[in-house]
Amino acid sequence: MALKQSQYIWLDGEFVAWSEAKVHVLSHSLHYANSAFEGLRAYPTDKGLAIFRLQDHTKRLLNTCKMSLLKCPYDEKTLNEAQVEALRKNSFAPKTSVYIRPIVFVGYGVMGVYHLNSPISAAIAAWEWGAYLGDEGLENGIRVKISSWTRNSVKSMMGKAKVAANYLNSQMAKCEAIEAGYDEALLLDSEGFVAEGSGECFFIVRDGVLITPPSDNSLESITQNTVIEIAAALGVRVERRRITRDEVYIADEAFFTGTAAEITPVREVDSRTIGEGKRGALTKRLQEAYFDVVYGRDSTFARFLTFIKD
Ligand code: PMP
Repeated sequence: MALKQSQYIWLDGEFVAWSEAKVHVLSHSLHYANSAFEGLRAYPTDKGLAIFRLQDHTKRLLNTCKMSLLKCPYDEKTLNEAQVEALRKNSFAPKTSVYIRPIVFVGYGVMGVYHLNSPISAAIAAWEWGAYLGDEGLENGIRVKISSWTRNSVKSMMGKAKVAANYLNSQMAKCEAIEAGYDEALLLDSEGFVAEGSGECFFIVRDGVLITPPSDNSLESITQNTVIEIAAALGVRVERRRITRDEVYIADEAFFTGTAAEITPVREVDSRTIGEGKRGALTKRLQEAYFDVVYGRDSTFARFLTFIKD
């Protein structure tokens, strides 16, 4: 998916032209993959663009920094304001959703694995980005392959950190799935239970109950949490428990959740049709409710929105 360029990127406290937001090739993070990042979306509402769960994403960014021993030079308030400013400063086509990518990274000046003497930088970019797994996928569901890759073990990596280093595992799983003709990968943990997708969390539906794994082996997903809250508001029972591969095959419905993926139905896993092979009824209900929340049409969840107009 080609990147849709906007005009300005926030880089260490200043807005610079998109094409000027550059780093040195010897920047530490480029070599050793310790960089904390986030992915947020802002949706066009009746009152202009609104960032969805900005404060929660910024908290997770700073938690990732803490876990990964990155001394972020900017506090929560500064980062929140800079993200709002990044949307004000750029112009976007009306009625499009915007993706925001803050990143805290180890800069240029020191080489070798030990990074604590290296300078730390931060950047925030924002650009127009449509459905991550395609509009078709949102509507009709996608085809998923259980990955031959195991999700990073909690014994050697930190799944609760949204740190670049975790994403080699995601990339290998995603490429394997795409090369095999599927749309997305579902990774199991080292015990064989469902962990997460390459960039999403995972839900199944059985007998009207929504089931999603605990965050033992996955990111603490903000969309997963939102879906759980929406389900509670709709009176849908939610269980957080481990799911096995065979249970996925016989689920009535399945879907992925993520800021980029939103709620993407899964219609097939490893050549087993899930339910009726299309977006399930509960998935559709949750999807509609989710879009009502993010587009500001549901006042119950208005607290999740940060409007960017003055
Ligand atoms: N797991 C992984 C590995 C991810 O990269 C993402 C996307 N940030 C998610 C889950 C979903 O998290 P969220 O709902 O907070 O975007």
